Amino acid sequence: MGRNVFPVVFDGHNDVLLRLGGPDGGGPSAFFERGDQGHLDLPRAREGGFGGGFFAVWIPSPKEQTERTPRGLPPALDAAYALRRSIADTATLFRIENRSDGKFRVVRTAAEIQRCLDEEVMAAVLHLEGADAIDTDLDALRVLYRAGLRSLGLVWGRPNAFAEGVAVHFQRSPDTGPGLTEAGRELVRACNNLRIMIDVSHLNERGFWDVAALTEAPLVATHSNAYALCASTRNLTDPQLDAIAASDGMIGLNFAVNFLREDAARDAGTPLEVMVRQIDYLVERVGIDRVGFGSDFDGVLISQEIGDVSGLPRLMSALRHRGYEDQALRKLAHENWVRVLRKTWGE
Ligand SMILES: [Zn+2]
Repeated sequence: MGRNVFPVVFDGHNDVLLRLGGPDGGGPSAFFERGDQGHLDLPRAREGGFGGGFFAVWIPSPKEQTERTPRGLPPALDAAYALRRSIADTATLFRIENRSDGKFRVVRTAAEIQRCLDEEVMAAVLHLEGADAIDTDLDALRVLYRAGLRSLGLVWGRPNAFAEGVAVHFQRSPDTGPGLTEAGRELVRACNNLRIMIDVSHLNERGFWDVAALTEAPLVATHSNAYALCASTRNLTDPQLDAIAASDGMIGLNFAVNFLREDAARDAGTPLEVMVRQIDYLVERVGIDRVGFGSDFDGVLISQEIGDVSGLPRLMSALRHRGYEDQALRKLAHENWVRVLRKTWGE
């Protein structure tokens, strides 16, 4: 492939920290080697024009924990376990930065992201996918903020002290359980005060509306799609999309084939047109200024037409063929994320 001619991509979600920390992950140093496993490492990112994004800290349930809540979710995590695991994955992120020779930076402001994109330094936003590690006194929130935390998903697909996530179901509404707890409302207020971005992906619908009613920041779903085209509990209904638009927030397109396709099939043969159709729908519903990417690289099954991060230019090319011109492609690729983060973080 020749030089990537498309605008650099800043992306709403990846799980590379989880992959690197896994049994065959290779740790922080594996991020600098071109691998054939998973989706994301530095050499492949450069080939694909991936300039950075949200790096998620996600905590798996302990293996021995096999029971389910009455609504079919894994039970809440032990907070001490979740905090220990979160610190470990956050340390992996900082080890990558330390070993990167200036090629990878953990960013805390929108200006830093823009500088990184301009200088071809990979920009990483520290994101917690679920507030399971946060105590209700919000001590951990304050300490992690000082360490660089700038984005927080209230939940993953399990309950915690603050809210409840959705189990993944097809042809079922995301209205699957109760909304925010009182501690959840406090957490939203604290995130607003600290100017930590709140991510509504994985949240059930009542939790979404509670956040929408409370938050002073734009509503952001880092890695979700349109329910109208794929009726998964993980996707956003039209009224939710309208609320995101009204708040001047945004949606990052999730590349998981089972959240993209009308039949939700886990089929790696899914054509790029299915992704383009989702982008078309989201842009039509919320506007070209409020859609970006939230690939979920290293977390989900994606189309083999993309394959891994090095295949991003094929998606950009499909969008160009569909009629998205240079300015629209820049917005989708990174400008919308930088704009929403500047608005949320204040600098
Ligand atoms: Zn996720």
